[in-house]
Amino acid sequence: MMDHENLRNAVSHGWRELASLAVRIARDTPEGDGGVFVNPAVARGSTVLFSSLEAMEKAGHRRYDDELIYGAMGTPLQYRLEHAIATIEGASHTQIAPSGLAACMLPLLAFLDNGGHCLISDSVYGPTRRFAEKILRRFGVDITYFPPCATEAEVRHLCRANTRIVFSESPGSHSFEVQDIPMLARVAHAYGARLIVDNTWGIGIFQPFRHGADISIQALTKYPAGHADTVIGAISVNSEQDWRILRDTAIQTGQVAGPDDCALTLRGIRTLPVRQERQSQSAIDIALWLQTRPEVARVLHPALPSCPGHEFWKRDFSGASSLFGVILRPDFTLIQLEQMIDSLRMFGIGASWGGYESLVLPTTHGITRSCDSVTQAGPTFRIHIGLENTGELIADLAQGLDGLAGD
Ligand SMILES: *Cc1c(COP(=O)(O)O)cnc(C)c1O
Repeated sequence: MMDHENLRNAVSHGWRELASLAVRIARDTPEGDGGVFVNPAVARGSTVLFSSLEAMEKAGHRRYDDELIYGAMGTPLQYRLEHAIATIEGASHTQIAPSGLAACMLPLLAFLDNGGHCLISDSVYGPTRRFAEKILRRFGVDITYFPPCATEAEVRHLCRANTRIVFSESPGSHSFEVQDIPMLARVAHAYGARLIVDNTWGIGIFQPFRHGADISIQALTKYPAGHADTVIGAISVNSEQDWRILRDTAIQTGQVAGPDDCALTLRGIRTLPVRQERQSQSAIDIALWLQTRPEVARVLHPALPSCPGHEFWKRDFSGASSLFGVILRPDFTLIQLEQMIDSLRMFGIGASWGGYESLVLPTTHGITRSCDSVTQAGPTFRIHIGLENTGELIADLAQGLDGLAGD
């Protein structure tokens, strides 16, 4: 295993590489004698006025090109944010959505038809799975789940002639399996299907399109917005054809985010690399410390060999985020884990992650799986490391774990 300093560098070097870009993207540069604000203006609007009916009709034809047509089709700041995300993700085009979940839904609606088959990673974000089960099925889409660590032969075996989408999330929600995205792309493309990757964990440190993905999803609510004060999402694609389908579906289903949410997210992006450089280092420090604790059976941090798919993290990622899992020894009970979590003082209890604050949740509530999962090995929890002092976070976890052993 890498020594501690090398590991700290391995989780954070990609963030340093992103720092200058994050400061500069989607901003104005002064020209001539006029001055410009550092930040683009927040323009609110519904109605857009045109000089003639002809001009209005022409604008409608340019709906793929940041045109102002009507507020529900996008505002100047939404288009700025779309360019910023496309640049970070290495995509040709990005569509903003009102939430991360809406961003998961939109490409499924855009690229699936009645009678089509959708193959989804078993470790996918729970609400994405519920959307597939409760809504896609009603519209005649066939759904199956693949084990997140499935081999190429196993994934091929689950594909069918009518497979249109392979939906991956890497690392997996709650169980953190890192997936072999180039392999999934190879299999999907052999069946004429598109590979969707929910890249929320990997924004900035995993380039989905370089590894064969066709569509990348972001819950911008998490690290990009970064302050637990807005809900917003994004879908990126890398071909003109896919962009037209995605953009038309976004307009037809009214996908839009308010200008203030776009402004908060753009502001968050400026400090994303510096927050993440710090948070990723604190997280690996804490993950390594947790590994030394006798109460802990396994740490599910993609940068550690104990995480399933660690070899793909090592091959494909330029850093890590600060969200990871912990499995306690199987002789501890779920009730003991819940008491331990309630005893923590530095960690908030609540949904979501990616803000500046540390959070913790047991990963046993409301988790549906079709295949075996690492999280069944013992009581499991998920930690999000924020910007607090690392020593204080460790001291708090130490008192929590000490309490466990005393029971
Ligand atoms: C949080 C999350 C979402 C949903 O984002 P919201 O903005 O909360 O709707 C989607 N995918 C992943 C992987 C997430 O973690």
